[in-house]
Amino acid sequence: MSGVVHTSTAELFLVGQDASNMMGNPAGVCYPTSTAEVQEAVRWARSKGMAFIARGAGTGLAGGAIPTAGSLVICLTKMNNIRSVDVHRRAAWVEPGVLNADLSRHTSRHGLHFAPDPSSQQSCTIGGNVANNSGGPHCLSEGVTSAHILALEVVLPSGEVCILDAENSLFDLRGAFIGSEGMFGIATAIEVRLVQNPPHVSTMVVGFASVHEGAMAVSAIIASGIIPSALEMMDAPITRAVEEYVHAGFPLDAAAMLIVEIDGLEHSVSDGTRQVKDIVLRFGATSFKVAQSAAERALIWKGRKTAFGAIARIQPNYYLHDTVVPRKKLAEVLSQVSAIATEEQLQVMNVFHAGDGNLHPILMFDKRVEGVMDRVHRAGSEIVRVSLEAGGVLSGEHGIGLEKRDFMRWMFTENDLLFQQKLRAAFDPEGISNPHKVLPRGSGCADASSIPPGSWM
Ligand SMILES: Cc1cc2nc3c(=O)[nH]c(=O)nc-3n(C[C@H](O)[C@H](O)[C@H](O)COP(=O)(O)OP(=O)(O)OC[C@H]3O[C@@H](n4cnc5c(N)ncnc54)[C@H](O)[C@@H]3O)c2cc1C
Repeated sequence: MSGVVHTSTAELFLVGQDASNMMGNPAGVCYPTSTAEVQEAVRWARSKGMAFIARGAGTGLAGGAIPTAGSLVICLTKMNNIRSVDVHRRAAWVEPGVLNADLSRHTSRHGLHFAPDPSSQQSCTIGGNVANNSGGPHCLSEGVTSAHILALEVVLPSGEVCILDAENSLFDLRGAFIGSEGMFGIATAIEVRLVQNPPHVSTMVVGFASVHEGAMAVSAIIASGIIPSALEMMDAPITRAVEEYVHAGFPLDAAAMLIVEIDGLEHSVSDGTRQVKDIVLRFGATSFKVAQSAAERALIWKGRKTAFGAIARIQPNYYLHDTVVPRKKLAEVLSQVSAIATEEQLQVMNVFHAGDGNLHPILMFDKRVEGVMDRVHRAGSEIVRVSLEAGGVLSGEHGIGLEKRDFMRWMFTENDLLFQQKLRAAFDPEGISNPHKVLPRGSGCADASSIPPGSWM
């Protein structure tokens, strides 16, 4: 085994980080190509008294893939086969390293796709989606990853292999594993649910003179009983940045814009489009446009999903936050976020899943400026605080990882945490699978491992 563990400085540097602003210090990395090789890697790490950590593409934003000092990174990117597609059952068995967008590209010949579509879908893996229970713009009507996983093959921290599914066991351990951020073992094969590509789609771009009016329109659309397939909001600064980059025809004079998408049968799509138009006009929309072709629709989504690339033209670094607030509090919390950024002298832009109240404030900065990271972290804590005070939750889709581990007590009682620790210990009694994540410091089993504390900052 030791022969296939890579230890070059360059490789360890690369797998020591993810898309968060943190850095870890692993002892080695291996790239298994089969379940048996993952088992061998886990057993080898155990025999050496090392922790191990599953890694997909490293696009996680909460530091979930940051390795503890001295740990073994088990990188799943070479396990990237789509093993079978069952068109009749609308299901497929895939390996964890399959890229999200590749799966839907592969199944499009059958008129099917994998519904969760994170903006990072060109590069993130299905294994990472499962571990983080990822979402995306089109999860509003279809549900996030947990609604699209039928079964999992898992290598447990003991080295044993088991199948977790909802149908053939007493407890739904599949549900427990999804969102466990690499702490319950390693998913080595995943049975996904596929959904039919919609026969008709209407994609609308709506401009508003204020964020408040845009946010009120979001609540009114959902309250009317329409569940769009996607309902996204972008504020003026990010709209300008994206428009200069992608030229998607976004309204540059708007203080906020919505992307509203409705899909289904032809008559329900045209009815829905008419209803959305009535509602947004009632809430003061200053512009309303419907994509006239598949190419126009694709350009709108390219604009939305490459927003993070667009901001790289403005500042070299960004910190992308993720909290959820009740829809009716969107406008209020957004103005608090803006005040927090001003207080810390940071630029902020907002592009987010408005339909489910999932905020994504992006703080932009240049990390070469002395002291800037302190201001970024202070602003981040404040954003979490105001979101929770508004009745929201810590994370909508990026997970807890290291980033929000120490905020867990702001939301959960000691009893809640104890229960979560016990569940973790049932899968991983020694705490060797991605230790020191999610569960806050000083909370029993999070510290139970013999692994030395990480040096991830
Ligand atoms: C520009 C950008 C946009 C993004 N947009 C979205 C978005 O719209 N929605 C969203 O939800 N997220 C988004 N993300 C976050 C990220 O892409 C997702 O969390 C994604 O699912 C992570 O996948 P990954 O393969 O990169 O996983 P990694 O970052 O490699 O790992 C993430 C976690 O999963 C664990 N893990 C990975 N593979 C396995 C496995 N096989 N078994 C067990 N555990 C495993 C790791 O240990 C780690 O804890 C975005 C990120 C970026 C950079």
